[in-house]
Amino acid sequence: MSSLCPAVPASLCPAVPEVVGNLRDANYRRRSLSPMRTLLTLLLLATIVALDAADFAPWTTAAVDKSGREATFTVAGGTITVVLPEAQLALTQADVLAWVGQAASGVATYFGHFPVARLRVEISARGKGVNSGVMFGGRLIRIALGQQATTADLASDWVMTHEMVHLAFPDLDERYLWMEEGLATYLEPIIRVRAGTLSASTMWHELMVGLPKGQPGRSPVGLDDDHSWGRTYWGGAGYWLLADLRIREQTAGRHTLDDVLRAVLAAGGDGTSTWPLAKVLAMGRTVTGVDVLADLHRELGSAPVNVDYAAWWIKLGLRQEAGGLVFDDAAPLAAMRRTITR
Ligand SMILES: [Zn+2]
Repeated sequence: MSSLCPAVPASLCPAVPEVVGNLRDANYRRRSLSPMRTLLTLLLLATIVALDAADFAPWTTAAVDKSGREATFTVAGGTITVVLPEAQLALTQADVLAWVGQAASGVATYFGHFPVARLRVEISARGKGVNSGVMFGGRLIRIALGQQATTADLASDWVMTHEMVHLAFPDLDERYLWMEEGLATYLEPIIRVRAGTLSASTMWHELMVGLPKGQPGRSPVGLDDDHSWGRTYWGGAGYWLLADLRIREQTAGRHTLDDVLRAVLAAGGDGTSTWPLAKVLAMGRTVTGVDVLADLHRELGSAPVNVDYAAWWIKLGLRQEAGGLVFDDAAPLAAMRRTITR
């Protein structure tokens, strides 16, 4: 099964370049040094740290094929080949590779490694900005970029991360597509906040604006039988948000949704696999000791339940005011809200 993600307004936020230092080469430095030698040593160490930072951006040294359009690099165990379109883009190859690489790095940081061993990303020149993405079988992502797309479009993009989340979860029966799309919708901004490329404020604001689109409205059926866009993406995102909150509540913070998703991936549940829903639900029970995933599926899957998100926003300390979103750190679940994004 592939996932099709229609373009919706993306959040606008500045990109924060990922720079990670590593002092592993510092050990052999001599211990007693003159002031001048200390200064020179510090300069040398700064250079080493800068070089090591470059090591953490493997897309900057990607291997490019003869055509010049295919470039390959490895991020946290995942070898990614990025194929540019024949049509000329305003963006450079380095821009595109950094965009793919940074999304891959964020996803790999969340899961502990990149979800699949090999991925091909095919870029086509079409539309405006980053305008569509589809993931095929856990091996291929096709994404369209406008010929005039800019680095600002890439910096505010959510589609690449969304598609890569699909690499880390098994295909389910078509009836439960809302679980797959809902997971990618819920997790993508969390991964970007943790990676430093989206603000927590923007993330919560977009959840508060987006989740009402997943309410049943006049629909007479639950999520399992309602295949409309709003219910599939935002109804599904609501399921995973509630699952995350309830797991944290019922285990007094000992477990989170992160634990369940990492366990699913570790058990082979990546985008190349197909699982029965019961296996995902059982994994949730085994990992956390509470049956939140199955309970919530019983509640939301078979009946048109209107979720009281407003009550959750109050408990989490989220309040919309004229000047924008306000965090209330005195709210009962304010600490839980903070741990979701870190
Ligand atoms: Zn999707």
